[in-house]
Amino acid sequence: MPIVVRNLTLPLDESEEALPSLAAKRMRVESKDIRHWAVVKRAVDARRGQVEFVYQIEVALEGGGDAEQKCMRTLRKQDVAWLEPAKNQPIVYGKESMSERPVVVGFGPAGMFAALRLAEHGYRPIVLERGRDVRRRHHDVMVSYYKDRQFDPTSNLLYGEGGAGTYSDGKLYTRRNDAMCGSVLEKLFQFGADPDILVNTRPHIGSDRLPTICTQLRKCIESLGGEVRFEQQLAALTVNDKMLASIDVQEGGPDTPKNMRVGPVILGIGHSARDTITMLASHGVKIETKPFQIGVRIEHPQAMVDQWQFGAAAGHQRLGAAEYHLVAKEAASEHGDMFSFCMCPGGIILPSNESPGLIATNGASRAQRSSLYANAGLVITLDPAKMGMGPLEALAYQRDWEEKAFKLTGSSYRVPVQRAEDFLNKCDSQGSLEATFPLGGAWADIRATIPKAVSDALERALPNLDKKMPGFGGPDALITAPETRASTPIRIPRDPQTREAVETAGLYPVGEGAGYAGGIISAAVDGIRSANQIMARYARPR
Ligand SMILES: Cc1cc2nc3c(=O)[nH]c(=O)nc-3n(C[C@H](O)[C@H](O)[C@H](O)COP(=O)(O)OP(=O)(O)OC[C@H]3O[C@@H](n4cnc5c(N)ncnc54)[C@H](O)[C@@H]3O)c2cc1C
Repeated sequence: MPIVVRNLTLPLDESEEALPSLAAKRMRVESKDIRHWAVVKRAVDARRGQVEFVYQIEVALEGGGDAEQKCMRTLRKQDVAWLEPAKNQPIVYGKESMSERPVVVGFGPAGMFAALRLAEHGYRPIVLERGRDVRRRHHDVMVSYYKDRQFDPTSNLLYGEGGAGTYSDGKLYTRRNDAMCGSVLEKLFQFGADPDILVNTRPHIGSDRLPTICTQLRKCIESLGGEVRFEQQLAALTVNDKMLASIDVQEGGPDTPKNMRVGPVILGIGHSARDTITMLASHGVKIETKPFQIGVRIEHPQAMVDQWQFGAAAGHQRLGAAEYHLVAKEAASEHGDMFSFCMCPGGIILPSNESPGLIATNGASRAQRSSLYANAGLVITLDPAKMGMGPLEALAYQRDWEEKAFKLTGSSYRVPVQRAEDFLNKCDSQGSLEATFPLGGAWADIRATIPKAVSDALERALPNLDKKMPGFGGPDALITAPETRASTPIRIPRDPQTREAVETAGLYPVGEGAGYAGGIISAAVDGIRSANQIMARYARPR
């Protein structure tokens, strides 16, 4: 078993080739005793006023196990340890026979990874996705929407192959402490992501690389006997005695009957399919509210962020674009702190709406993070239950703000923008406006696009943030809104053992839309866990 050596630091200009000798010193062996080494984790540390790289590396010694045992016996150091192999639980297939092939609704990260897992084990899933494949989706977004301003509710930044993940920023970190996160990263690497995602502590793919990765993943599912059917929307359910019996599929092609008898159905519809959630509620699927985030998105010149984070080292070629994560405690209220969400260094602001007539902001960047601007959500948490709202009212509440923003800028899909300084001074912004939003921006009163709780929190947060990060609330900081898709206000409760919807057996809600994930990795892991549960119950098809 290899040894892991932690907390090795290197100055920015030092090559990684220096790592084995640092490790040898730490392990009290000679450099020549190191037979093999590899980087396990790489992080940038800018906390102590100087910027450096911090590494974990794995090391194998000449002489193999005996030499390693000997070395470890003499060491009493926390930062030299045996490298624990990842614990992957073996799958034990169930015994029940499945009446129909498993169906996966939605081909976002949750649905993709659930389908991949089922396909890899011979369960031949059928995926139903309301949007189009990446090739056609690319045209629908980049040409029809961005150029011709023709929004397509079937195929957009949220719907289609890869779901919301395809044009997302592709940051792959999660607060979830789950060994399965590593296996999702391994798969993404297998389908074309850069190997750095396996070692960087803040891995990132970029919206220019994700589409190809999604297509490769789909091709793998197909090669294993699974099917992915595009432009197939789950439109209704038949539930008998609290058991899912069949589903109706809208716009079914020749392969898909309008009504499908089903066995287990994994439901990975994402956080924006409000029509589908309404349909599920009308068929008796239990839906609850949960706290959710809402706020604005703020954009700064990237050079400013680099300066805040890296000081004199800003612009160093090995550093790339700096990021931040902040919690504005001074903005705290009954809604908790205001905090940053989905920070996109070197990125652009994207229109994350699934229906026409709405504006909802989000951010993304390309692999190189090369835009001259950085953006991040600044959000607070609202609890629909405390606001007297049920699940559908909470969805309508989000939608209302999105509609207001759309109308405010002349129903043109231009995003409302206000300089942070003008927001604080309650005056109109003027002058030329360069927005990274692909459909442009228009000066507007941001308060008209967000709940008062958000504008109050911003008023408290910005002056203090500006003291810590000069310019954060100044004239070069642009605020856009509303940031309504940070998380869903609903949850589809599920049985903790079987992972089925509590009052609809056979339905397996997964991912962000069901309220169990908040990003690509957590959605993927949640999908895999439900696929595992299905395989643990049902026998492997012959
Ligand atoms: C611009 C942007 C940037 C983001 N950046 C990041 C990031 O950097 N890192 C990160 O971790 N997360 C990011 N996210 C969030 C991330 O994309 C989501 O958390 C993730 O995609 C959720 O996965 P999911 O599978 O649960 O749902 P989704 O990805 O939303 O997929 C749901 C799929 O279901 C389909 N669907 C919906 N209803 C039906 C129906 N009735 N019938 C058939 N199909 C249906 C949809 O078309 C969609 O393809 C970003 C999101 C956006 C929009």
